[in-house]
Amino acid sequence: MNCVEFRRQLAIEPQATAADFVRHRTECPRCAEAQARALAFEGELVRALSVAVPAQLAEAILLAQTTAERRRRTNLRRASMFAIAAALVLAIGVAGMRAEAKPLSVQAVEHLHSEEEVLALTAPVPAAEVVRTFAERGVTLKQVPDGISFVAPCPVGASKHRSVHLVMPTEDGPLTVIYIVDQKVATAADFERDGLRGRSLPLGSGTLILLARTSAEFGRAEAQWRAAIAG
Ligand SMILES: [Zn+2]
Ligand SMILES: [Zn+2]
Repeated sequence: MNCVEFRRQLAIEPQATAADFVRHRTECPRCAEAQARALAFEGELVRALSVAVPAQLAEAILLAQTTAERRRRTNLRRASMFAIAAALVLAIGVAGMRAEAKPLSVQAVEHLHSEEEVLALTAPVPAAEVVRTFAERGVTLKQVPDGISFVAPCPVGASKHRSVHLVMPTEDGPLTVIYIVDQKVATAADFERDGLRGRSLPLGSGTLILLARTSAEFGRAEAQWRAAIAG
C-alpha cells in the first residue's frame, strides 16, 4: 500500500485494521500522523454527539434546516425562471435570424405590398425633399432623378433595414425603388416574385432594388440611380 491508497482507506474507515493498512502506518510517519488526527477528530465527534442537545438548540437547527430548504426551493424556482427566459431569448433570436435570412429582394417586395397605395401617386415630389430624405439616411445625392412621385425613409423588413423608398411613374406603370442603406448585396441579380419583376444590385455602401410589372425601365432607372448615389 502506498500513501495515496492509505489516505483513501483512511477517509473511508479511520480505524481500519487490514494488514497492509497497518503495515504502511508503521513504515510511514506522515500517514501515521494523519491517522492519529483522523482518530482524534472521530473521538471529538463521538463526544459531541453524546452530549445532550439543549431543546432550544434543536429547534434552532430545525429552523435553520427548513430555512435552507426554502432557500434551496426558491433558488430552484429562480433557476427554472432563468431557463425559461433563456429559452425565450433563444427562440426570439432564432425567429429574428429567420426574418434576417429572407433575402432583401423578398423583404422589398413585402414592403411594397404593405404600402401599395403609394403606387397610385403621380404628382412629382420636390427634388429638395428627395435630397433631404436621403440625407436623413446618411446618403448625399450627387443628382436627383426626375419623375419621383413618392419618397419616404421607410424601415424595411423585420429587422427594419434603414432605407429610402421611392416611386417613379413610367409608361409601363409605377417603378418602385428601394435603396437599402445598411446592407449591401454581393452581386446584382434579377428576380421575379408575386407577378413583379425585380432587380437588386450593390450600389454605394448599400443595395438598390427596382420593382415593377415589367423590367422595361430597369436599365434607365439603374443608370439614373448609379449617377445619383455613386456619382
Ligand atoms: Zn504514507
Ligand atoms: Zn415604404
